[in-house]
Amino acid sequence: MRLDLSEVLSTVGMRIACPVEEPPLVDEDLECAAPVVGELVFTNTGNALLIGGILTTEVVLSCARCLRYFRQPLEVEIEEQFSLRTRPMGPGARKATVEVEEEEDANTGSLFTGPVMDLTDLLRQSLTLVLPLGPLHDPDCAGLCVRCGADLNEAACGCDTGRDGRALSGLGALLHGGEQEPN
Ligand SMILES: [Zn+2]
Ligand SMILES: [Zn+2]
Repeated sequence: MRLDLSEVLSTVGMRIACPVEEPPLVDEDLECAAPVVGELVFTNTGNALLIGGILTTEVVLSCARCLRYFRQPLEVEIEEQFSLRTRPMGPGARKATVEVEEEEDANTGSLFTGPVMDLTDLLRQSLTLVLPLGPLHDPDCAGLCVRCGADLNEAACGCDTGRDGRALSGLGALLHGGEQEPN
């Protein structure tokens, strides 16, 4: 979704609320299972454009212990600020254009093309930042057997992992990581 912010950018003091309903975002770092919904408020303070609001969606995560995929609700608070630069449209002109100043960032690229903001890109960046590290499909997830790779949430496999199982768990996790292909 792309938003034309010409009106708010050209009016100091203007504040607009914009409902957001973005289709589920999917890329290599992020997989949404539901639309991204909420509301964003854009405010022109004269020197800056403020963007604020709370958005919710549902993401697909892979359990850090047993690798199974599960869905989890995710909420992200957006709080962004961009400097505004006013440029006269010509010598002695009474009109001026207002541009959003963005810091050059090779990773994220540019969110604005003139007064048009790439909302999809802003949402993608913001959601990726709040993804949980080491997510668990269940706080009590039993994980995978370090010997045979069986999912211990399903059933005990009977392997003897008592004494040296712990020492092997690092290697086991590596092997399982290599075997398991995400589908
Ligand atoms: Zn799990
Ligand atoms: Zn086992």
